[in-house]
Amino acid sequence: MTVISTADAAGLGDFIDASPSPFHVCATVATALDEAGYTPLAETDDWTGAADGRHYVVRGGSIIAWDAAAVADDLRFRIVGGHTDSPNLRVKQNPDRTAAGLATVALEPYGGAWLNSWLDRDLGLSGRLAYDDDGAVGFRLVRIDEPILRVPQLAIHLSDDRKGVHLDPQRHVDAIRGVGEAQPLLDFVAQRAGLRPESVLGWELMTHDVAPSQVIGAAGDLLSAPRLDNQATCYAGLRALLDAGDAVAAGAVRMLALFDHEEVGSGSERGASSDFLVTVCERIVAADGGGRDEFLRAMAASVCVSGDMAHATHPNYTERHEPSHRIAVGGGPVLKVNQNLRYASDAIGEAEFALACRAADVPLQRYVHRADLPCGSTIGPLTAMRTGLLTVDVGAPQLAMHSCRELMGTADVPMYSAALAAFLRR
Ligand code: ZN
Repeated sequence: MTVISTADAAGLGDFIDASPSPFHVCATVATALDEAGYTPLAETDDWTGAADGRHYVVRGGSIIAWDAAAVADDLRFRIVGGHTDSPNLRVKQNPDRTAAGLATVALEPYGGAWLNSWLDRDLGLSGRLAYDDDGAVGFRLVRIDEPILRVPQLAIHLSDDRKGVHLDPQRHVDAIRGVGEAQPLLDFVAQRAGLRPESVLGWELMTHDVAPSQVIGAAGDLLSAPRLDNQATCYAGLRALLDAGDAVAAGAVRMLALFDHEEVGSGSERGASSDFLVTVCERIVAADGGGRDEFLRAMAASVCVSGDMAHATHPNYTERHEPSHRIAVGGGPVLKVNQNLRYASDAIGEAEFALACRAADVPLQRYVHRADLPCGSTIGPLTAMRTGLLTVDVGAPQLAMHSCRELMGTADVPMYSAALAAFLRR
């Protein structure tokens, strides 16, 4: 049976353009969930009797949503995981500088940002501000989509050999804000957020490419966008949860778990190495009257698909890819396997995802990294280690991973989402 998902590349582009920071990803996902009848729960709330139905909970830049419409005694979770953060350039604590008569902003790379790709682009700013709210700590999201910053490249005539560019993360990624003196950056951002500058006491601010996502290519079969890694999974997973239909399968709780801080190792209160997922699962069981044993039985019967983007084979660098494991743009979802456990997939998890692809009638590609190149990792192994869940690492093909501007096939968006929806339905 072919399962049609309503996810498409234009929808992914809109999702990405609305979500320049992990906090905005959570807000974009929450808005879509609100519209679909999900209601928010706070971790400080009493969840007794409240976890049935459709809910979500936000912890900083991470969000977990679930559909427990038909919770039964033999409860189990079907989980799609992903990450909300992407590599970028972030604002330092005392950001205002002047150099060569120009006002500049001190920036610092976050995660494995491919620094060359951030040069010569018009950049906006987004994130969240924490402020003094009558003695309490309030926070507010802020998003500036105008091009207020730019990191200009060194002219080729001033380079050492005209062949390459060496970029030092300390000296070469500060952005120009304007000519001469400029208003302090934090004052400007506070005002844009509708806050008194003196009330702002903390911030997580980051840059983004302000050029909108765009469907490109001779036949319109490519999507050019920032943050495909890993908002393509956030979007496909969200659509999968919403498109999977009523959760009538006995006892299955369908869940979407999106974590911040993957690009820097997941080691935070809200990262994939935190207790966020495991406590939400335990509280869902407890809210229904289940005890520790019911919780552990539920986890033992559960499966997690960890979604993160996969390297499509680059036409200019085919030799950088493992022979007989070519990953085609537009070729369908990708199963990621690594013998040294950079990915969590094992035979049972592989079969789980292969069955989902079969049910969705989409092809499945199998990725193996070259043994002589260091393989990246993702939330899969960390989630498996933290929760004990059977976990399989999957993704959709893309090029230019960790670039400021990435590229994927439009056909892969609905196929990826349909496979995730089929997984949630099982
Ligand atoms: Zn990723």
